[in-house]
Amino acid sequence: MKIGIFGGTFDPIHFGHLRAGVEAAEALNLTRVYFVPSHTAPHKRTGGLASGEQRLEMVRLAVAPCRLLEASDVEIARGGKSFTAETLEYFKKKLPGSKRVFLVGLDAFLEIHTWKSFESLFSLADFAVLSRPKTDGRDRMEAYIQESLGSLLTKDGSGQWVSASGQKLCFLKVTGMDISATFIRQSVGQSRDISFLMPETVAGYIEKNRLYKKEMETKGL
Ligand code: ATP
Repeated sequence: MKIGIFGGTFDPIHFGHLRAGVEAAEALNLTRVYFVPSHTAPHKRTGGLASGEQRLEMVRLAVAPCRLLEASDVEIARGGKSFTAETLEYFKKKLPGSKRVFLVGLDAFLEIHTWKSFESLFSLADFAVLSRPKTDGRDRMEAYIQESLGSLLTKDGSGQWVSASGQKLCFLKVTGMDISATFIRQSVGQSRDISFLMPETVAGYIEKNRLYKKEMETKGL
């Protein structure tokens, strides 16, 4: 069994995340992609504006129609700062014998040298770095690996990036959807229509729970 693990704040989850998950599953032959909302993301300046439970619920609603995707509460249940190394260890124990592929957008990957125990990440899972809209980004990824991760990853004879323990890293071009959670939160705060950026169930949940309204109120926007 080969699974994908896709971490993020998902505040809220949107079609950019979902489409990337589906395309990664198909391109890499993954049985399932687990979407793992963080409890507290060490790299985000502000905490999630929706609570962990709310973000998890939105992920559950979003993935429900797709058999390839599943929500995981591992980081929300663990609490505290969410470290990917711990999450990958968790999946290793939970699904022994499974092959794990960690999915990460190019923007997030370009900061990976600042993540806790980042060296260990490349022994815990294969990696698929997902393109972000407007740019293929492969060259940027390659330059970054050479500059910042050169001691952890090398290219084998076939041009494949591999770690010392044999984990692979690939670049995956996914349909570019220029959607961000920040844009959605801002749109809600300004009472703009958020249709077609995410599943209707998620938009409905945001409306019902009046999420992202406060952010703008406190900023006086
Ligand atoms: P924010 O705007 O709050 O920073 P975001 O929309 O970038 O949020 P995150 O939860 O931070 O979403 O992202 C989780 C993961 O999904 C990261 O690896 C990120 O690179 C990736 N990602 C985010 N948006 C997209 C998108 N539109 N297409 C593909 N991948 C994406």
